[in-house]
Amino acid sequence: MRVLIVGSGGREHALAWKCAASPRVSEVLVAPGNAGTALEPRVRNVEVAADDVLRLAELARAQAVDLTIIGPEAPLVAGVVDEFRARGLAVFGPSGAAARLEGSKSFAKAFLSRHGIPTARFAGFTRTSFEPAYVLAQRPPIVIKASGLAAGKGVVIADTHGEALATIEAMFAGRFGAAGAEIVVEEFLAGEEASFIVMADARHALALATSQDHKRLEDGDRGPNTGGMGAYSPAPVVSPQVHARVMREVIEPTIRGLAAEGMPYVGFLYAGLMIAADGTPRVVEFNCRLGDPEAQPLLARLRSDLVGLCEAALSGSLHTARVDWDPRAALGVVLAAQGYPERVRTGDGIEGLERAASLPGKIFHGGTRLHGGRVVTQGGRVLCATGLGESVREAQQRAYALVDCVSFEGMQYRRDIGYRAIARERG
Ligand code: AMP
Repeated sequence: MRVLIVGSGGREHALAWKCAASPRVSEVLVAPGNAGTALEPRVRNVEVAADDVLRLAELARAQAVDLTIIGPEAPLVAGVVDEFRARGLAVFGPSGAAARLEGSKSFAKAFLSRHGIPTARFAGFTRTSFEPAYVLAQRPPIVIKASGLAAGKGVVIADTHGEALATIEAMFAGRFGAAGAEIVVEEFLAGEEASFIVMADARHALALATSQDHKRLEDGDRGPNTGGMGAYSPAPVVSPQVHARVMREVIEPTIRGLAAEGMPYVGFLYAGLMIAADGTPRVVEFNCRLGDPEAQPLLARLRSDLVGLCEAALSGSLHTARVDWDPRAALGVVLAAQGYPERVRTGDGIEGLERAASLPGKIFHGGTRLHGGRVVTQGGRVLCATGLGESVREAQQRAYALVDCVSFEGMQYRRDIGYRAIARERG
C-alpha cells in the first residue's frame, strides 16, 4: 500500500520512517517533506505545501494513496480531513471542528469547563470585552495566552500585574498576529509537565507511551518558549496511578464529550498536562496531532505497525488493538538554527551526518533541504538527534553522542534534555 504523510518537520520524518518500515507499505510520499525524508529508503517527497488542502486531496487521489496521516496542526484546523472524507479518501486526523481543541484556546477552555475536566481557572477576552480589573484581582504569576495558533510561542507567564497588562496590550496590538485577537488569562499551575498522547477512533482511546518535552530555549528550563527543544519517553512523572487518573479524568471524558457534541474525534490527541505534587492531572493545552519533538522518541520506541494502528482507528476498532513498545527509554535533542525562536538563519551546510549514521540511534530532520546534493538548514528546528538506552541517562548519552558528530553555523541546543527524569532515576 501507499501512504502519504503531510508536513515537513521532524515529526513527519519520524512518521515517514516508521511507515516505510511497515512490511505492507511499498512507498511513502511526503508533502512537502525535507532532506531527511528525501534520503530515506522507500520515501519520496512531493512538492505540495502542507496547508494546500485541495492539492493534497488531489495528490492522494492521483497517486492512489491508501492512507494519509496529517502531521501538523495548520491543515487540520483548516479542515483537510473534512476535504479528504468528502472525497472518500482514508485519512487519519480530526475534523476541522474537533481540531478547534488546538486551534482555539478559548474553545478548548470552554469545552473543558462544560465537561468538568480539570484545568486552570481562566477567563477569555477580546479587546472590547477586556476587563483590567480581572487581571488585577489575580495573584501573580499570571498566565497570558494568545487564543489562536502561535506555534507554541503565544504564552507569557507574567510575574507582575504590570507585565500581565503590558503583555495583553501587546497581544491585542498584534504581537502574535491574528492569534492574539482573543486572549485567555489563566491561573498559574505548579507541578511537572507531561505529554499524554492517545490515538482515538471516535469512541475509544489507545494511550501511546508517555513522554515529556522541554519548551524553553535554554538549559534549566529558562529563556523563551519554543516549539520544543528536546523530549524523552517514558516520562517517569506519569506513574501507573497518574496514568489511570489521566485516562479516567481527562482522556475518556474528552472523547465522550466531543462525540456527544457531534464532533467525534479520530486522530492523535495530545493532552499537555501539569501533574501536581499529589498526582492530580490538569490540562494545560490540547494539541490535535502528535507533538514535535515528542514524536521522534515515541516513534523510535514503537514496535507495532503504525499503519495497522491507523487503520484500526479508521474502522473504529482501537479497543481491540495492542501496541508494543521497546522497553528502553528514548531521548531526542533538537539542534536549532541561530536566532531560533525569533529570526532564523537558513542555508548553512550541515556536516557530519554520515558519521552520525554509523552510530546507534537516529537523526531525524526538521528544517532541512537538499541543495545541490548537500543538506542545508532551512528552518528553526533543524535536526533531532534521538538515542535509545536502558535508562533515560543512557538514552541521553547516546543522543548527545549523535549531537557531537554534526555541526552547522550557529547551531544551538540544550545540554540538559531529560534532566528531571534522570534526577528521578538517581532517586
Ligand atoms: P501552551 O501553549 O498552552 O502549551 O503553553 C506553553 C507552555 O507554557 C506550557 O507547556 C507550560 O510550560 C506553560 N504554561 C501554559 N499554561 C500554564 C499554566 N496555566 N500554568 C503554568 N504553566 C503554564
